[in-house]
Amino acid sequence: MSPFARQNGVLHAESVSLIDIASHFGTPCWVYSRHALETAFDEFQQELIGLDSLICYAVKANSNLAVLDIFARRGAGFDIVSAGELKRVLAAGANPRKIVFSGVGKTAAEMELALGIGILCFNVESAAELERLDAVAGRAGKKAPISLRVNPDVDAKTHPYISTGLKENKFGVACADARALYRHAATLANLEITGIDCHIGSQLLHPAPFDEALDKLLLLIDQLTADGIVLHHIDLGGGLGIRYRDEEAPTVKAYLQPMLEKLKERQLQVLLEPGRRLVGNAGLLLTRVEYLKPGEIRNFAIVDAAMNDLARPALYGSWHDIVPVAPRSGIASLWDIVGPVCESGDFLGHGRPLALAAGDLLAILSAGAYGMVMSSNYNTRPRAAEVMVDGAAANLVRRRETVEELYALEQRLP
Ligand SMILES: *Cc1c(COP(=O)(O)O)cnc(C)c1O
Repeated sequence: MSPFARQNGVLHAESVSLIDIASHFGTPCWVYSRHALETAFDEFQQELIGLDSLICYAVKANSNLAVLDIFARRGAGFDIVSAGELKRVLAAGANPRKIVFSGVGKTAAEMELALGIGILCFNVESAAELERLDAVAGRAGKKAPISLRVNPDVDAKTHPYISTGLKENKFGVACADARALYRHAATLANLEITGIDCHIGSQLLHPAPFDEALDKLLLLIDQLTADGIVLHHIDLGGGLGIRYRDEEAPTVKAYLQPMLEKLKERQLQVLLEPGRRLVGNAGLLLTRVEYLKPGEIRNFAIVDAAMNDLARPALYGSWHDIVPVAPRSGIASLWDIVGPVCESGDFLGHGRPLALAAGDLLAILSAGAYGMVMSSNYNTRPRAAEVMVDGAAANLVRRRETVEELYALEQRLP
């Protein structure tokens, strides 16, 4: 059952009416379902039963402490990309030994912090980073556990902004260079080679590119074994897509089974870094129609959420379903759902067939991933509140910012 379903016509999150959430917490407002988050996580766990494995949730998809807490309680590890995310997951109760650190631009200070905490692995993305990590670990008197993020040069067939596994992308080290770099890493005194890693892109809708990437990694692993470099884990990254509109996203089983089959005979711990798939369909953005502005060419419904809240439509041209919380009878017209921000790119959806009146509540669906985390204060708009629904309870998990907070760090000239 969907965590967001209608009862007597009114859209609910689990058993809480979105009308009640809007009147209690105001709009715009992010609404998450605890049950949906847990179900999505369990779907992965199910496929990994009996395997030496670790699901490292990719924190950047949605980093609210309550979301992290829910996954940590279920035994998840975390994939982080900054010192900020590291502190966040620790605040949410993460086990340091289940944290992997990805990203092309780790600073020395970030490395030092992560080394001190004793994370599971650094996913190293370049030769230069390897040298820096070795130096930082040496100064700290520590041995840094590493994997190399290999760029398998496969086409993930997704939006160019979220495709990461092609030669032309900035991520990882080229397959052709990886063997030599591993051999070099093996000579560095302050590093300990523990794994191999790849992540080829986001919102992937076909299992084939994952499988293709795995084949390239397995080939490399065999070469490394011949070199006397024995790995402890393989990290297959994240990237599994979700349904926004009519996409046929693979089941977790269809995505994982072929890969796990190939890994069966190997003595490797399997790490995964899912982000979007765990949170995307577990959240929505609740907004209220401020004005209707019908026109000769287009009809605009101006709502109180905007591109500063949900950037994905403006950034990637992505499509989110937009549904009325309490549908009204009457003839539907085509509406452009737009925000109040001073940009023509400030839209949430174009040409949506809806019967609308000012004051109506709309739910922008599948907004749990890359939603709140990408929001900004553009136009001095306070970031929206976040609410986690848990059965019949609606818990505020981040209060709405105040305008005063937005300029509290600024000052006028002396
Ligand atoms: C973004 C990212 C992920 C998560 O990607 P999703 O598409 O959200 O699953 C995993 N690993 C790395 C290294 C990433 O950059």
